Amino acid sequence: MDVVKEFGSLVFNEQVMRERLPKDIYKALRHTMQERKDLNIDIANVVASAMKDWAVEKGATHYTHWFQPMTGITAEKHEGFITPCDDGKVIMEFSGKELVKGEPDASSFPSGGIRATFEARGYTAWDPTSYAFIKDKTLCIPTAFCSFSGEALDKKTPLLRSMQAISRQVMRLIKLFGDDVTDVTTTVGAEQEYFLIDENIYKKRPDLVYCGRTLFGARPSKGQEMEDHYFGVLKPRVAAFMDDLDEELWKLGVVAKTKHNEVAPGQHELAPMFSTTNIATDHNQLVMEIIKTVAKRHGLACLLHEKPFAGVNGSGKHNNWSMNTNTGENLLDPGDTPSENARFLLMLAAVIKAVDEYQDLLRISVATPGNDCRLGGDEAPPAIISIFLGDELTAILDCIKEGVPYDKHAGGEKMEVGVDALPNFPKDTTDRNRTSPFAFTGNKFEFRMPGSSVSIAGPNFIINTIVAESLCQFADELEKADDFKKALTDIIQRTMIEHDRIIFNGNNYSEEWVKEAERRGLLNLKSSVDALQLFSQEKNIKLFEKHGVLTKGELLARQEIMLEICYKTINIEALTMLDIAKQQIVPAVIEYMSDISGAINSKMAVNEKLGCKLECHLLEKLSCLSDELDSKIIELEAAVDAARKETDAIVTAKVYHDSVSEKMQELRNVADELEMITKKSYWPLPSYGDILYSVK
Ligand code: ADP
Ligand code: MG
Repeated sequence: MDVVKEFGSLVFNEQVMRERLPKDIYKALRHTMQERKDLNIDIANVVASAMKDWAVEKGATHYTHWFQPMTGITAEKHEGFITPCDDGKVIMEFSGKELVKGEPDASSFPSGGIRATFEARGYTAWDPTSYAFIKDKTLCIPTAFCSFSGEALDKKTPLLRSMQAISRQVMRLIKLFGDDVTDVTTTVGAEQEYFLIDENIYKKRPDLVYCGRTLFGARPSKGQEMEDHYFGVLKPRVAAFMDDLDEELWKLGVVAKTKHNEVAPGQHELAPMFSTTNIATDHNQLVMEIIKTVAKRHGLACLLHEKPFAGVNGSGKHNNWSMNTNTGENLLDPGDTPSENARFLLMLAAVIKAVDEYQDLLRISVATPGNDCRLGGDEAPPAIISIFLGDELTAILDCIKEGVPYDKHAGGEKMEVGVDALPNFPKDTTDRNRTSPFAFTGNKFEFRMPGSSVSIAGPNFIINTIVAESLCQFADELEKADDFKKALTDIIQRTMIEHDRIIFNGNNYSEEWVKEAERRGLLNLKSSVDALQLFSQEKNIKLFEKHGVLTKGELLARQEIMLEICYKTINIEALTMLDIAKQQIVPAVIEYMSDISGAINSKMAVNEKLGCKLECHLLEKLSCLSDELDSKIIELEAAVDAARKETDAIVTAKVYHDSVSEKMQELRNVADELEMITKKSYWPLPSYGDILYSVK
């Protein structure tokens, strides 16, 4: 593949627009994109026609409004361009109206009560800030999805609103610095972790097929303890898959840049080059989809679940976040001049304040049942939110807080530090502290809590909104200040005094941190349910309403949908476990016990004096464990029945999380013990070893 030529060849991007649209139309469209305004129908007609011609030339026959409902995956309903003519022939047509607005039936997507109280219908509206593209012979138009009365029913709408909110606030501050900037957008680079296993093995595990994770499975003799997989040489089959994946993504304009093996056997990572948050989100959805289709083509199955295997590292999605001006400056870059230093410190202070004041929201932004299996293990950040700044930057901020000179910088001598004088400090551009949930890595923050399967729209609309709020408060104060520099210094000093408890540079996996965090009064919301309950707190409703990101109704709907996802997921997992246990494990164990009994009988028939210690001992153990298995199946069934009777979303989610999960774990423990003493050919499921090392 000629990468330079083929890159973005399936995208109706800037270059194609310039080539194919009349100059005035192109200009009007650009204007709409920049101002994030609605598109005039006359312009839409011309754009639609050009898009259709381009897509048909590339072999497309259909179009779809590509949207992101609250399920977290993308949805599409394909419509043909085909239109009959009077003479019995057909032409390919696509109108401006069809481009800008679609009316899918909203009633089958989760709406968290919005559907009941408002209209059943919904509509999708083109988001011209994300380019249309061709996938499977279909022109995909990125769209936002709303109820007929305008409530957001998707992940994209609040994200777009939050981008506007933060841009609005940042621009107020930029103006005060007198910078020549007309727009600021947030940027994101999402590193995606995933597992690859052989598809034939995958199909033999109903738990993987239905739930995306293993619900049974004894530990393999070799896990990840030798640390020989991370950055290891790619196996030929994996390398071929990755090449193919890169090509597919490049054609779709996704700048897939980094790929390597991860810590666990069978685990890998893909990182794209960062882009604006909106496009990064769309692209991450595409990455998750294309990874799966390309894997299939290679006889592989891709697991995006946060914790497919117990006892083996799970998968996350590092969300690298920053703010960029239209003049190409990164606002989280410390810079070299006094004015850049001051601006940087102000932005940093805004993030510190936001993260401390809205710890609950950040935790909520990653609240999924899959992530509950991962967070807090010795592999992923704990459920406690804190910020890593690195020792140098922390020491500098401490000096600002105390109002004392800084004496550790490269020059050796003491140095007054403040908003216009930052010493050079070594930037922590590496992953030095991998345990931190929210790490400053030199010129961006890396939020490491999101799970591998989630849409990054959730975390990012929350980061954007909470930072917008700090920036808004700073702007309110600075706009009124007589002495700008003094007010700026005050803000940074005050932020450090009030919020430095959120800064932690140590080991986030340690027991001591849990205690220390409690002493500091930081939240430790262990489960998604614990976190989601706090979503509807008054301060959160106020925040989202103030910045026009979510109405109260939309927030409550989201809370309900997220809770629903939690308990529905556990319900499916519990039922899958019961099926596997009853239909596969129980019969296998009975058969094995029966064959052992037969063997004992035959042996005795030959010679009664022969010892049968081994056989009897094994049979006894199997029999004991199978009795226990029977009890655990009954207990899990009872727990599910009880949970199903609950009606309130929070209570239901709590009961599933507490009692059903516990019973699932107990059932699993017994089954895993049985697996370890049952002859392999009798065991109905491929083992952990078979799965994790299935790709040769
Ligand atoms: P690591 O594995 O050390 O965390 P990677 O190099 O794999 O780092 O990924 C870093 C990610 O951060 C990449 O996707 C990169 O494009 C992204 N990134 C770099 N600069 C910015 C920025 N200013 N804003 C957002 N993301 C950024
Ligand atoms: Mg990373």
